[in-house]
Amino acid sequence: MFLEPHFKGQRSGWIEVVCGSMFSGKTEELIRRLKRAQIANQVVEIYKPKIDTRYDEVKVVSHDSNFIHSTPVSKSRDILPVGEDVNVIGIDEAQFFDNELPEVCQELALRGVRIIISGLDMDYQGKPFGPMPTLLSVAEYITKLHAICAHCGNLATHSYRLIPDESSVMLGEKESYEARCRTCYAMGNILDFRKKESKVVGHQQKLDL
Ligand SMILES: [Zn+2]
Repeated sequence: MFLEPHFKGQRSGWIEVVCGSMFSGKTEELIRRLKRAQIANQVVEIYKPKIDTRYDEVKVVSHDSNFIHSTPVSKSRDILPVGEDVNVIGIDEAQFFDNELPEVCQELALRGVRIIISGLDMDYQGKPFGPMPTLLSVAEYITKLHAICAHCGNLATHSYRLIPDESSVMLGEKESYEARCRTCYAMGNILDFRKKESKVVGHQQKLDL
């Protein structure tokens, strides 16, 4: 469990990154941290890329429909004019932002703002996603969350795309992706066929009875 650092003397900003695969609970963790800050009467602002409108235009919504209001922005620089009174900035789906996001976050952290970033560390091809590798390098605190592998139950680090599509931005949830461990991810669609076979076997067994 992430605990906020304590400061002595001069307060300064910092950067936290919550990363992991799909279905690892990144957005839930972002919302948890932001809500705690709100309860402590801190001024909180949340941003998300305009591209991510899966659920709602102005809310950051986790898969379990826990939500918090946010501002959709089309580029990282749009976050900079944030008010002087803001203590905490949350950024969801950071992987979809442009490569200026790390610079913007560092500028805000220097102004004394606590930045909490949530994003996919790898795309569906298992490659570092957008500005995430740089954000991980410059962050003070990193939390890597894991999902559960849909096939073997081990910790999942990869987001496997079930529907063939070459673009790295393909929104959609359970029907398009599943969380897999490294080994099951490497097995690719062999596992899809096995799943279908086992369903057929199950059906035949039923008929035999
Ligand atoms: Zn697995």
